[in-house]
Amino acid sequence: MGKITGFMEFQRQEEGYLAPEARLKNYKEFVIHLSHDQAKVQGARCMDCGIPFCNSGCPVNNIIPDWNDLVYRGHYREALNVLHSTNNFPEFTGRICPAPCESACTLGIHELPVGIKSIEHKIIDEGWEHGWVVPQISDVKTGKKVAIVGSGPAGLAAAQQLARVGHDVTVFEKADRIGGLLRYGIPDFKMEKHHIDRRVEQMEAEGVKFRTSVLIGKDFPATVANGSKETIFPEDLEKDFDAVVMAGGAEAPRDLPVPGRELKGVHFAMDFLPQQNKVNAGDKIKDQIKATGKHVVVIGGGDTGSDCVGTSNRHGAASVTQFELMPMPPEQENKPLVWPYWPTKLRTSSSHEEGCERDWAVATKRFEGKNGKVEKLIACRVEWKDGKMAEVPGSEFEVKADLVLLAMGFVSPVAQVLDAFSVDKDARGNVRAATEGDSSYKTSKPGVFAAGDMRRGQSLVVWAIREGRQCARAVDEYLMGSSVLPR
Ligand SMILES: Cc1cc2nc3c(=O)[nH]c(=O)nc-3n(C[C@H](O)[C@H](O)[C@H](O)COP(=O)(O)OP(=O)(O)OC[C@H]3O[C@@H](n4cnc5c(N)ncnc54)[C@H](O)[C@@H]3O)c2cc1C
Ligand code: SF4
Repeated sequence: MGKITGFMEFQRQEEGYLAPEARLKNYKEFVIHLSHDQAKVQGARCMDCGIPFCNSGCPVNNIIPDWNDLVYRGHYREALNVLHSTNNFPEFTGRICPAPCESACTLGIHELPVGIKSIEHKIIDEGWEHGWVVPQISDVKTGKKVAIVGSGPAGLAAAQQLARVGHDVTVFEKADRIGGLLRYGIPDFKMEKHHIDRRVEQMEAEGVKFRTSVLIGKDFPATVANGSKETIFPEDLEKDFDAVVMAGGAEAPRDLPVPGRELKGVHFAMDFLPQQNKVNAGDKIKDQIKATGKHVVVIGGGDTGSDCVGTSNRHGAASVTQFELMPMPPEQENKPLVWPYWPTKLRTSSSHEEGCERDWAVATKRFEGKNGKVEKLIACRVEWKDGKMAEVPGSEFEVKADLVLLAMGFVSPVAQVLDAFSVDKDARGNVRAATEGDSSYKTSKPGVFAAGDMRRGQSLVVWAIREGRQCARAVDEYLMGSSVLPR
């Protein structure tokens, strides 16, 4: 423990942001990370708890008290080693993780929690800056071939772990670039994409092969194929490789089947957000969905909705409104009731701060428009009683809407992909695979494994990394009989 009295002496300090006027001019990251002095003070706030709840609150079980102490002492290289021992990609989580570890921090019971995420961000940025993040090339080659389907955080984590124990790993990705939702979905202003490119380079040096624009499946509709140029049947992949990991994410969006849904100008968030990622990467998009000068309504109060808000404001929308079906959560959680778990509370993102009207307990009844184009949205207020929703009589209202973005989450993985692999599904339509015991990450088909959103349903980057790592161990055990990879 760095400073015994640190938690009593020092206040939490958040990372800074550029002012909204400056950051709205482009799609670049705008978080200003802590200076060395600031990080030292934040590290000193850690109490090095006998039972570090942060460690179990973190899905990858980051060894947080140890790196807090090392940062306090200025030993960044050692801190990076500890961080990398549990997390392949801290530059992703240090930027976009909602930090369940901080909700679990013991200091958070009576004070503001330790700024764990900002310290993680600082450690990994120092690591890259000083050239400490280098390929870890395996000395042994097992001669076993593993195919990973999907290059999101789950697929990447599995691939890196497996290559580091000597397997011959190929990642297949139907999109034209590697990264899954990190690349196409999460806006550049939350995470610039050169962070992914840098890791891909490291992994290539470690022996991982990447094949983009290759769909593993059958003759799927264009919405699933996503512009891929080549198709490989799952049965051929299974013949050519000793093990296959399904890490294709949960891509089936939740729709809003109300009258007027077919009008032009009503889009899924995931039709809108990846286009801007591509434009930022230098691609030309024909008929890009733009919010410029439009009254935008975002339906869905979560993170994807917030990303639509930030992107719409960068396009120069005339107004942005976000509706959520659930009631407005409390501003502060009831700590003794919820700690150390992730609390339901009002969360205002940096995108909300840039300009957005938010309204809760609102249901969309229909869209109306002229000449096939949406012009307004008719909504009503709802009340929730005993878990059931009811319209508040006489509460109907309308808002102007030239662009409606549906950001209501994802139902499951795409069923056609799972059917093409002929693997069992669970009750929610995800790939059925346990995470414990002998059947860990194993699907109903021998030699085929599943990890990330494709197995657990839509979730978080940090959970995808955990599953990729744990799945890699399960694959290694299957291929070699035992494994030195961490659980
Ligand atoms: C807009 C948006 C913002 C988000 N923001 C955050 C955030 O800030 N923080 C956070 O922690 N989480 C966030 N999430 C959630 C997070 O991105 C996901 O939980 C995470 O990326 C899941 O990782 P994954 O590897 O399981 O799948 P994905 O990232 O979905 O990657 C799956 C990949 O598999 C490919 N694929 C699918 N099927 C095939 C096939 N048959 N053949 C070949 N390739 C295939 C897909 O093209 C895709 O690239 C966000 C999600 C969205 C949609
Ligand atoms: S729970 Fe908080 S105070 Fe305790 S060890 Fe973890 S970060 Fe430090």
